[in-house]
Amino acid sequence: RAKADGRRAYRFYTADMTERARERLEIETALRRALAEHELRLVFQPQIDLRSGRLMGAEVLVRWLHPTAGLLLPGRFIAVAESTGQIEQIGGWVLEEACRDLKRWERAGFGGIRLGVNVSGRQVLHGNLVETVQGALERSGCRPESLEIEITEGFLIRGPDTSRSILERIRDMGVGIAIDDFGTGYSSLSYLKQFPISRIKIDRAFVRDISLDVNDQAIVRAIIALGRSLGLKVIAEGVETAEQLALLTECGCNEAQGYLFSEPLTASVFLDYWNRQARPL
Ligand code: C2E
Ligand code: MG
Ligand code: MG
Ligand code: MG
Repeated sequence: RAKADGRRAYRFYTADMTERARERLEIETALRRALAEHELRLVFQPQIDLRSGRLMGAEVLVRWLHPTAGLLLPGRFIAVAESTGQIEQIGGWVLEEACRDLKRWERAGFGGIRLGVNVSGRQVLHGNLVETVQGALERSGCRPESLEIEITEGFLIRGPDTSRSILERIRDMGVGIAIDDFGTGYSSLSYLKQFPISRIKIDRAFVRDISLDVNDQAIVRAIIALGRSLGLKVIAEGVETAEQLALLTECGCNEAQGYLFSEPLTASVFLDYWNRQARPL
């Protein structure tokens, strides 16, 4: 009986594995087409200065306009792209496109903000990130100071020496470096001074319950204090309520992004948002 159960469990296990492998292959193939057929799009989420209420920048997030499945979020395809290596091509495209948009806006009279671009650890460790960033800046004519790359701490730890030297070269160009989802990884605090970081992004997991959970509030306070004493800017992710905003402001957090201000917007809607912000009616 135990044997039969075991066999059945094994069969389910392999069926599940096969299903996952099939789905992965499907995404990989479809992504190759997506890149060739230009199905990827960028959206922009406003980042707001908490003291002045001004728009300081935006995080660039990728979307996949799939011909039959509709609009796909990165959660559906970034992990696959990371494991197949396609993230290097996708990431390169995102950087190029983001810089081109920023320059186009600047020419249209919308200047003075920065764009934050998510970069996968695989781009840092295996791609030519330095050349990719340099190329995107040169071809677009963007100022390096208006670009920031966002990277999660987990990746830095996998190849600390390689990542440090690559990030230093990027920092030396004048490009900002933000640690994304801060607090969720292996968070060795010493990394904050070992790497050339300019900004900490507090993960929304800590922001979510900040007004209910005293521990989360203590963690957020500590991150902000730490950032300040190290001379880093701190931005909170996933701010959804006025209560969260009030607490973050009181703690001395520099900036915030989240649905309270705006969801990620297409370029033209983002420009409308910016316009309204700059010239309130
Ligand atoms: P992330 O970099 O931490 O991005 C923040 C995510 O939180 C985004 O999800 C954003 O839409 C969502 N978000 C923003 N405000 C709120 C809020 O108030 N509440 C809640 N619940 N969520 C909010 P999205 O766009 O689905 O992206 C998910 C992740 O995919 C990103 O997390 C990032 O790690 C990755 N990603 C997105 N674009 C790229 C890219 O171009 N390259 C790479 N390598 N990764 C990307
Ligand atoms: Mg990010
Ligand atoms: Mg994040
Ligand atoms: Mg994330």
